[in-house]
Amino acid sequence: MDEAVDRLAALLLACPGAVVLTGAGISTESGIPDFRSPGTGIYANDDPAEVLSVEALARRPERFWGFFASSFEGSYGAQPNAGHVALARLAQAGHVGTIVTQNIDDLHERAGSPEVLHVHGHLRTARCRRGHVHGLEQALGQLQARPVPVCPDCAGPIKPDVVLFGDQMSPDFERAIARLHDSDLVLVVGSSLAVYPANQLAFLARRLAIINRDPTPADGRASVVVRGSAGEALSALAMVLLGDDR
Ligand code: NAD
Repeated sequence: MDEAVDRLAALLLACPGAVVLTGAGISTESGIPDFRSPGTGIYANDDPAEVLSVEALARRPERFWGFFASSFEGSYGAQPNAGHVALARLAQAGHVGTIVTQNIDDLHERAGSPEVLHVHGHLRTARCRRGHVHGLEQALGQLQARPVPVCPDCAGPIKPDVVLFGDQMSPDFERAIARLHDSDLVLVVGSSLAVYPANQLAFLARRLAIINRDPTPADGRASVVVRGSAGEALSALAMVLLGDDR
């Protein structure tokens, strides 16, 4: 890993303000499972595109909310890991710019990253069809008493403010496209690059670098691929570029 990390550090020095595109793999070391790691991903036996879709929420809300809660309830108590912290330090020092995340957890913000775009929404809120907005964590708490949470104001059905399969992308997606078109480099961390259209963001900057534990379909197009743990690779990168002054 060391030699690849050195090459990545040199690339970042040549391309200041690189955009970082993160996926579920950066949060697995915080205890939040990803979707597609072989054997351990949340949906080793189910297709997330089917279970967490707009259609599933409309047709089988009990199943949707059961899966949603078991997948993401643990995110509220999770803490940023070494990878989130190293990225925040690199951003604060100007070695990387905007973080574009496919994740719905808030671990980049809690680690101190100054600018984070959430292309798939977030876990803070949910809303009903009439537009009442409430905390999503409280909505999930209703599952202790009923199989499907409802709006506390009108008792109508609610939807989490996350981008489901079959949903429109969040407004942050357009902002991310604009940032990437202006960028010399995108560093992808912890993404299988399997989810469309977010995976297309990897190809909008002039150059591509990847940190991932498993191979991705874009490895052949990358200037540098670091194969391994995001926490270890980003800590090593921060050590090369910033030294150990915390
Ligand atoms: P994915 O599950 O499709 O792929 C994760 C990738 O990360 C895999 O290729 C795996 O090899 C790699 N990986 C896992 N742990 C790693 C580690 N410690 N270090 C380095 N690499 C690691 O994830 P995706 O591409 O982000 O797509 C899944 C979709 O589901 C996205 O929208 C994602 O945001 C969402 N999701 C979000 C969360 C979250 O918010 N934390 C969790 C699960 C899924």
